[in-house]
Amino acid sequence: MGGSQSALNFGAGPAKLPREVLQEVQGEFLSYKNSGMSLIEMSHRGKEYSKINTDAQAIIRELLDVPNNYKVLFMQGGGCGAFAAVALNLLNRTGTADYAVTGTWSGKAAKEATKYGDVKLVFPKADKPGSIPDQSEWKLNPNASYLYYCDNETVDGVEFHYIPESNGVPLVCDMSSSIMTKKIDISKFGCIIAGAQKNIGPAGVVVVIIREDLLGDPMKCCPSVFDFTHIAKENSVHNTPATFSVYVMERVLQWIKRNGGVSAMENQAKEKSSLLYDTMVKSHGFYTCPIDENVRSRMNVPFRIGGGDEKLEELFLVKAEEYNMHQLKGHRSVGGIRASLYNAVTLDDVKSLIKFMEGFQKEHGPK
Ligand SMILES: *Cc1c(COP(=O)(O)O)cnc(C)c1O
Repeated sequence: MGGSQSALNFGAGPAKLPREVLQEVQGEFLSYKNSGMSLIEMSHRGKEYSKINTDAQAIIRELLDVPNNYKVLFMQGGGCGAFAAVALNLLNRTGTADYAVTGTWSGKAAKEATKYGDVKLVFPKADKPGSIPDQSEWKLNPNASYLYYCDNETVDGVEFHYIPESNGVPLVCDMSSSIMTKKIDISKFGCIIAGAQKNIGPAGVVVVIIREDLLGDPMKCCPSVFDFTHIAKENSVHNTPATFSVYVMERVLQWIKRNGGVSAMENQAKEKSSLLYDTMVKSHGFYTCPIDENVRSRMNVPFRIGGGDEKLEELFLVKAEEYNMHQLKGHRSVGGIRASLYNAVTLDDVKSLIKFMEGFQKEHGPK
């Protein structure tokens, strides 16, 4: 199976990227813009990469309508590096920060931040993620340096369908698995972090969007490579950036623009995920999603089969591979199945998955 044929890739990250972009990159891999050199062989201070750096920042600003008083930074260290950097750069202001823990990644971010200051959870951490307490139940500290949350919990399949109210405290958001999948009002945020490898590029680069007035107060111990103020001053070329990753990301962002921009991605995300959730409803309990309906993710759809029958789930994964459908295994911490439906996953891909699920139920479900 597979070979040169494109696989149906439902991976959670690194994840499917538009075939068209991969071909474009392949076409100029050995000789970037007829230079006789690959981009990955070129200096990060040369004119070719400088243009990529500038273009990538510009298209992010355009696609997300980023106001002028925000900086767009490219950093390394992934999502995990970025949420550590959030604490290192922003926690100094008051020494305490609020965290809304709705799943795996916000949980890890909160834990990381305790190394650098006082961390308060705005609601108790649930044993099993699957819901988000109503905002009226959140205990917000008006003295917090920031309020942190994760827009889409990639592992658990829990997504915010609104922007929380932080009452004037800077709002910080991890959008690693949802950036460029919905329209957002950037001016509501103090800082947004997003690893590229889910919706907008290969692993290796993380995008940071930060309001300028929040710069200038990093902790003394903050490494320069994680220092937002310093990276902003150096225009994201303080040291060698992940040049290839930024380059491919820029091409993916151009692809998003060509295909209708963020609102087109948003419509498509809604359609794809609704079809899949509806399939579960129609399965009469054969496929079940453990997540509250009002916080279900449009990006990562976790489900169980036969009430959590691990043998059946194992079989489902084996059969799926036979139909060229890959990376459907749930995260090791939660088990079951997880279908990730990022921007590059097409409606047809999702329809194929649904057809397969219906066939699987016919064959292996209760008769
Ligand atoms: C993948 C992911 C991370 C971690 O990213 P790394 O690049 O592996 O450090 C953090 N937050 C979210 C929401 C993610 O999806």
